Amino acid sequence: MRFADIPSHDNVKSRLVNMVDSNRLPHALLIHGRPGVGKMMLARALAQYIHCTERSDGDSCGKCPNCIQHQTFNHIDTHFSFPVLKRGGTTISDDWISEWREFLTESPYMDFKDWLVKLDNPNGQPRMYVEESSEIMRKLNFTSHGNRQIVLMWLPERMGEETANKMLKLIEEPVGDSVFILVSNDPEAILPTIYSRTQRVEVVRFPDSVIEKYLVDHHGLSAPMAHAVAHLADGSILNASRSVGNAEQRDHYLNLFQQLMRLAYQKKVSELRSWSNEVASLGRESSVSFLEYCERQLRENFIYHLSAPELIYQTPDEAQFTTKFYRFINERNIEEFVERFDAAITDILANGNAKIILFELAVRVIMLIRK
Ligand SMILES: [Zn+2]
Repeated sequence: MRFADIPSHDNVKSRLVNMVDSNRLPHALLIHGRPGVGKMMLARALAQYIHCTERSDGDSCGKCPNCIQHQTFNHIDTHFSFPVLKRGGTTISDDWISEWREFLTESPYMDFKDWLVKLDNPNGQPRMYVEESSEIMRKLNFTSHGNRQIVLMWLPERMGEETANKMLKLIEEPVGDSVFILVSNDPEAILPTIYSRTQRVEVVRFPDSVIEKYLVDHHGLSAPMAHAVAHLADGSILNASRSVGNAEQRDHYLNLFQQLMRLAYQKKVSELRSWSNEVASLGRESSVSFLEYCERQLRENFIYHLSAPELIYQTPDEAQFTTKFYRFINERNIEEFVERFDAAITDILANGNAKIILFELAVRVIMLIRK
C-alpha cells in the first residue's frame, strides 16, 4: 500500500511522512478515527514507507523487495496483530493469518462484520488474548532481519487488562527500535495505561466528493445516485457501501412496485398472480419490508399530488416514476391503500399464506387505483 493509493487525508500523510523523514517516529503510534475512513490503509502505507529502500516524494516506491513483501502481506519484519477467536488450542493472530490476508485484500476499509465472517462466526466477540502479547515479544526478540520491526495492531480496544499489561512492557521498554502502530475505531475504550503512552494521529471523515467517486468507481453508481448516497454516509466508505446494498434492494423493490401498479391498472389478473408468487418467494421478512416500501412510495406520491414536490425523499428513479404515477394517488384512495397494505403486513407476520395475501392485495389495488 502506497500513500498515493489512499484518497484524501493529505495532512495525515504528510505528518506521518515527516515523522519518518525527521527520525521522530514514536515507539507507539495510535491512528484513530471512525470506521471506514482508511486508517488501516494509512498504517500499512506508513509501514511500507518505513521499510522502503527507494523512497521518493513522500511515498514508498512500490517496487523494491521490501515494498513487494509489504504488498503481499509477507513482510518479514512486519507483524500483524488483531482480535481473534479461539482456534484449536491457541489464541494468537498467526492462527488466522491466511484469513487476515484475505480480509485485508477484500475489505481494505476493514469492515468488522466482514472480519467476523472470516472468523466464521457472525456473532463472535473476537479479542486479543494474553498469548498474543507473549507471541509478539517472542517475534520481536528473535526474528529481526535487519529491518526496523513493526507491529501493526488492529483494534487495541479489544485487549483485556492482562493482555494490555504485558503489551505495555513492550511499549515501555521497546525491543531495539521497534514500532507499534495501533489502529483504533474507539480510542476511549483502550486501556488508559496503553493509551497514555501512544502518540495520537486522528483521521477525520472523508469529504463527500471522495465517497462519491468511490461509489461511482467501485459500485458503478450513477453520478446523481452517488451524490445522494454520499451525502448520507457521514464521511465513511463503509457506511456508503452499506447504503449501496440497500440501494440495490430499493431498485428491486421499485421495480416490483411499478409492476404491481401497471398490471393493476391494466387489470392483468393472471400476471398479478405471478407477481404475488414472486414477492412471496422473497420470504416473509423481505415481503414485509417490500410492503412497507410500497406504503412509503404511496405516501410520497400522495404528497407529490398535493403539489409539494420539494418534500419528497426519493431516489432519482423513484422520482421519475412518481412524475407519471402521482395522479393515481389522491384523497379518495390513499387511506384505503395504506390500510390494505397494513393489513397485508399484519397477516403475513401472523404466518398467513403470503401468496394468497399478496394476490388478494393486488386484486384490491385494481379497484383502488381507479378511485
Ligand atoms: Zn520500496
